[in-house]
Amino acid sequence: MLKIFFKRIEFQHRGSSHAHILLRLNDVPKDAINGDQNVAITLIDNLVSVSNENASGHKNLQVHKHTFTCYQKIGNAANQKCRFGVPFMPSRSTVILVSMPADDSRRNTLANFYSRLWKAFAENYYRDIDNFFEALIISSDDFYLDLLGAGIKRPMIFLKRQTTEK
Ligand SMILES: [Zn+2]
Repeated sequence: MLKIFFKRIEFQHRGSSHAHILLRLNDVPKDAINGDQNVAITLIDNLVSVSNENASGHKNLQVHKHTFTCYQKIGNAANQKCRFGVPFMPSRSTVILVSMPADDSRRNTLANFYSRLWKAFAENYYRDIDNFFEALIISSDDFYLDLLGAGIKRPMIFLKRQTTEK
């Protein structure tokens, strides 16, 4: 499956290492957005996991802690979102979403809802997705996916993720 790879190891503050990796794989969907998303999602799920159950013994090294580099503007970080997108929104399964079209009449309302949702998720603990949906009055999985679509500006992958894996 693996055709070509590139990796670069970098060292951050206090010597903690991280890798930037680019893999070129054989037999992958050419267009994961407009093609067969199920094939792409199966591939992603086979390669990537954020589940605590699949974590190595070094999972604490993989937990994001916000620093000054997370925020583009100087000043109060409380009103800014982390440029790395942390916390990552939960999802019952891995999904590939595109931004809700600008001419969709629901977009502004749902984008505002998404902002409140994201803030609530960042600031609170939810034991599971059902608890999260109940607290934020999210009526269905389809509605949640619409909210996520309204909240993003480019196609994004939301990995299967529990609320406790944000
Ligand atoms: Zn951050």
